[in-house]
Order: sequence, then C-alpha cells, then structure tokens
Amino acid sequence: MKELGLYIHMPFCSQKCHYCDFASFAGAEGKIKDYMDGLIVELDAWKLKLEDYKIKSVFIGGGTPTIVPIQEMDRLLEHLYRNFTFNDNTEFSIEGNPGTFDKEKLDFYKASGINRMSIGFQAWQDKLLSSLGRVHSQKQFIENYRLAREAGFENINVDLMFGLPNQTMDQWKETLQRIVELCPDHISAYSLKIEEGTRFGNLYDQGLLDLPTEELDRAMYEYAIGFLKANKYNHYEISNFAQEGKACIHNKVYWNNEEYVGIGLNAHSYLNKHRFSNTGNLDAYIAQMKSHGEAMIENIPVSQEDEMAETMFLGLRMMRGISIQGFQQRFGINPVMKYEKKIKKMMALGLIEVDEKCIRLSRKGIDLSNQVFMEFLPD
Ligand code: SF4
Repeated sequence: MKELGLYIHMPFCSQKCHYCDFASFAGAEGKIKDYMDGLIVELDAWKLKLEDYKIKSVFIGGGTPTIVPIQEMDRLLEHLYRNFTFNDNTEFSIEGNPGTFDKEKLDFYKASGINRMSIGFQAWQDKLLSSLGRVHSQKQFIENYRLAREAGFENINVDLMFGLPNQTMDQWKETLQRIVELCPDHISAYSLKIEEGTRFGNLYDQGLLDLPTEELDRAMYEYAIGFLKANKYNHYEISNFAQEGKACIHNKVYWNNEEYVGIGLNAHSYLNKHRFSNTGNLDAYIAQMKSHGEAMIENIPVSQEDEMAETMFLGLRMMRGISIQGFQQRFGINPVMKYEKKIKKMMALGLIEVDEKCIRLSRKGIDLSNQVFMEFLPD
C-alpha cells in the first residue's frame, strides 16, 4: 500500500493574533458543529480515492484545534478510524494553544491515539505575548505543557517566534533557555513575517511597528541554531529543531514532496500528480459541503517538470538537502545534470553546496533561501 499524510484544518481561535493571516476566525465557535459535519462529509468524499493508501501521519492544525469540544472531536476521529487505514506507528499531531485545553481534553486525545502535541507559545515574556495578541500567559503555557507530559505525551513541539516588535536579544535568549529547560522533543522557531491585512501589517504600513533590524533578526536566528545544537537539538529544517528521532514525520511529507490530503477550510492536497485546494470562506465551506459534498476551488495537474522543481525547492528546506540518488530514482535523471546551470550559478553565489551525495543550502543560502527557491521554479 502507498502512504500519505492527512491534514485536518480547524479554523477556530479564541482571538486573532496580530500577525496571523491563517484561515482562522475568532468568535465563530457557534459554527463548530456544522463545520465538523462538513469535515465528515469531506472524509467520505476522499474514502474511495484513498482505498490503496495507508495514512502515515495526521496533523490536526489550525486555528486552534484544542478549542473544539471533546464530543465534536470524538465524532470526527471515530469516523476517521472507521474509514481509513493507518500505519502501526502513525504520527498523530494536534495543535493547541495554552488556555484552550485541560486534563480532560489531553486524556481524551491520548486515549484517541493522538501521540504528538504541538503547542503554540511564541515568547517567554508576557509583555511580548500580549503585544502579539496571544490569548495566553507564560504561566498558562507552563501549566499546559506540564499537563501534557503528565497525560503521557512523549512527543511535544513548542512553536516560538523571533524578530518580534520591541524584542531584544536578551529576551530571545531567555525564551530559548527556559524552553530548553522544559525539554520539549521538538522546537519550531520562525522569524516573524509581516503579512498584509493583519493588524501588524496595517501598523507596519503606517510606520508604527518597531521591528528589530535585519541584522538583529539574523543574529537571533544564528543564536538559536548554536544554542539548540549545543542542547542536542538537531537543526533538520530551516526553522525546525528536534531531539533524536523526533523530527516531524508530517512536515517531512511536505518537504519530501510526497502525497498528502488536506481537508477543511483552505486545505491543500497533493495526490496522483494533481494539487487541489478548498475554499477559504467558512460559510461557503459549510454550505458547499452540505449541498454537494465538496468545497474544492482548484484542481491543477502537476507536470513532471513541475514535480522535479517542487522536489528541489521543498527538499532544500531540509538541512540534509536533496539526495542525488533519491532524485535520480524518482525521476530517472541526475538533479545536478538537470539543473546544471542553476546549480553552478547558486554555487558561484555561495548559496548552495554540492557533494557526491547531496545538494544543500549553504549557511548563506539559508538566509537567502527564497532567492534559491525562486531559481528552481519552472521557466
Ligand atoms: S492562535 Fe494561531 S491560528 Fe489562531 S490567530 Fe493566533 S496565530 Fe492565528
């Protein structure tokens, strides 16, 4: 049987963070039941197409999936288990924000086969948390983290952000130090991106956002790499660090350009050389699932040329890079030959490195990764 990853989107949040442009809504909890009905219909629609597949990873992301009441989540999980085939060791993650889950929910997740918690935290200092529009405090995070451990979760990710308005290097160092003391299995550390249409985006346009300089942002990233490495976290993707054996299987599905199905609002899928995406309009999603059982707005065939290019720029996100042999086995062509001109250009700029086994980003290439990824887009 073939394998794939499954993503399930939960677009509900307690409040909207100031930087967030994800498909998530505050104050929409009244729509949870209808939305879950829609997800179940969508699972049914995929069932036949996935008969030959085993699910190797599930990621319930958001939004804040931990807002969803146990009864509703139970309905969905029960349907999922009843209708799909799983690996013996499927990685099953749920994203949660502090203050939105408790012992009862954690016990339920654990009993339902969810084996990985991904907790959104972002910064150690309450002042920074509230300036980001986060709904929780540092104390709530610590309590929730400990509860998750007590409930038996042996695989916990903590999301952090740097390059925040008014954030100092000392605050970032304190964040990393305190998090490492808690020993999570996995840490994601992203540089803040200012997105159009968000509260931060509007403040930025008005010149009212006091962001760290580019130099400080890069120094924070550099510090994280060194500090986390010294504390036995393997830097395995541009923004992701994991203890031995705890790299995220689900995210590696994306970075290895493998097949996955996404259900729910704004979810994307990649199956049988097609990319699909759903509507990002919550009411339209619910109405369309109810009326005709699908909410797809895009179905794009992926040519071999596109697939090779995607495999290159997704694979380069991983620090080990792209296996030359793996690429050759998949596409019947050596990537160094296929992209000879582009690779030579990127090497001359010091952005990528090539040895007999792999093509990978250099340290400079990590900072300028978008430039490298653009280079591999099909002409
Ligand atoms: S909790 Fe996450 S998804 Fe929800 S608004 Fe904040 S950043 Fe966005």
